[in-house]
Amino acid sequence: MVKTQEITIRTRGNCDVVDITGRVSEAVANSGLLEGTVTVFNVGSTAGITTTEFEPGLVNHDIEALFERIAPQGGRYEHEKTWHDDNGHSHVRASLLGPSLSVPVIDGSLTLGTWQQIILVDFDTRARTRTIICQMIGNDKA
Ligand code: ZN
Repeated sequence: MVKTQEITIRTRGNCDVVDITGRVSEAVANSGLLEGTVTVFNVGSTAGITTTEFEPGLVNHDIEALFERIAPQGGRYEHEKTWHDDNGHSHVRASLLGPSLSVPVIDGSLTLGTWQQIILVDFDTRARTRTIICQMIGNDKA
């Protein structure tokens, strides 16, 4: 089977970290996938998806501090000359983190660790509404 489901979430931008684990679990449950893979993909070039332990130190500070060291918001970006906008750092951060994640599904459940949540990090400079595609591939319960 192949089933695809869209998730919509609102973010505050500016390195907002959103826990989307529950939404992805729901999509997997609705699909009936028993054994296979869910690919979780952010549509757009200024946000990324990965996993972390969803605790305040990481999600409110450490992740943003990491990206500020690698691609500072106040840095110089050719992209901003091209479009006269302010989100060159958002694009390069999103490129580095990557837009998608694959999670193996066993017995209908995501194979995540107890302290491992699926997160979307929105690097854009304003609040956004994000579309995330969940595509389930594998054997269903039929
Ligand atoms: Zn831009």
